[in-house]
Amino acid sequence: MTLKPGVVTGDDYFELVDACKSGGYALAAVNCVGTNSVNAALEAAAKNNTDVIIQFSNGGAQFFAGQGMPDGDMAKVLGAVSAAQHVHLLAEHYGVCVVLHTDHANRKLVPWVDKLVDFSEAHFKKTGKALYTSHMLDLSEESIEDNLSECARMLERMAPMKMSLEIELGVTGGEEDGVGTDFDHDHVDNSKLYTQPTDVLQAYDLLTPIGHFSVAASFGNVHGVYKPGNVKLRPEILKGSQDLVISTHKTGDKPLSLVFHGGSGSEKDKITEAISYGVFKMNIDTDTQFAFSKPVGDYVDTHPKAFKYQIDPEDGTPYKKQYDPRKWLRAGEEGFVTRLEEAFQDLGSAGRSLAK
Ligand SMILES: [Zn+2]
Repeated sequence: MTLKPGVVTGDDYFELVDACKSGGYALAAVNCVGTNSVNAALEAAAKNNTDVIIQFSNGGAQFFAGQGMPDGDMAKVLGAVSAAQHVHLLAEHYGVCVVLHTDHANRKLVPWVDKLVDFSEAHFKKTGKALYTSHMLDLSEESIEDNLSECARMLERMAPMKMSLEIELGVTGGEEDGVGTDFDHDHVDNSKLYTQPTDVLQAYDLLTPIGHFSVAASFGNVHGVYKPGNVKLRPEILKGSQDLVISTHKTGDKPLSLVFHGGSGSEKDKITEAISYGVFKMNIDTDTQFAFSKPVGDYVDTHPKAFKYQIDPEDGTPYKKQYDPRKWLRAGEEGFVTRLEEAFQDLGSAGRSLAK
């Protein structure tokens, strides 16, 4: 099975998800905030011959448009559109398949997603392709009925363009760009921290007739990186959901497409186990943030004077070559690429791009 390199949408995306699940690997979903992180994600994917998911949180999208834009809500929309256009233009030239996705949107961010779907409709009319491959709604703080009915409404809008919707059932702990809950295992209801298979079945029954969807399920995962011992991952929770759908509907293997949030800092064997239960996408943000920033810090440490003076006050040495932002931004990009190489290995996607 091969696909054209570039942004994949619709049937091509569905085939890519199936290839991951049947091939026993998952795609890294990389949170990006500007052209430096987008280009580094593309570079890392090309270098490792892997397909990749590029995703934007509402905050990342706003940053892409610029923090100085007076209307922040507009910036969240236009930043996401601008970022997607950048990826549409460049992705095919990197020779791999790229999925465009938006991250967590709670109730107050539903209008953000609706506006992005408007832009996808316009793009679809012009090109036959949606602007985004998929979006996420995270209404996991609401009742299962409210969560699913809103997800169904959104998927009904997206399905004619064969866009996919990621939903969240159960609560992923930790900090997530203004969405989510504080992480504290002792104070989160256990039934919320570990997704209930009956909830997943309810979602499957409601959404399957409407369109393509995936489920971010909680199995003790958290956003962010915490000291060892704080996170108790139980991937077998995911198997429980697959098994319930299989036994209820007599489906084939892995009927659900599952998403692993809060993958940063997870033990490698738990990642492998989660993939074996149908995880095709793992989000990575915290670790790549640090991977970008650390080499920048090292660079500043190595060239301290260049960040204080344009010309050395004692001997007149010009520092232009050192403080040129391309120098230290590139150091950040290289750190980002290196961390993603590790993720592609962990997820088993390296060397397996479907692009030809
Ligand atoms: Zn998340």
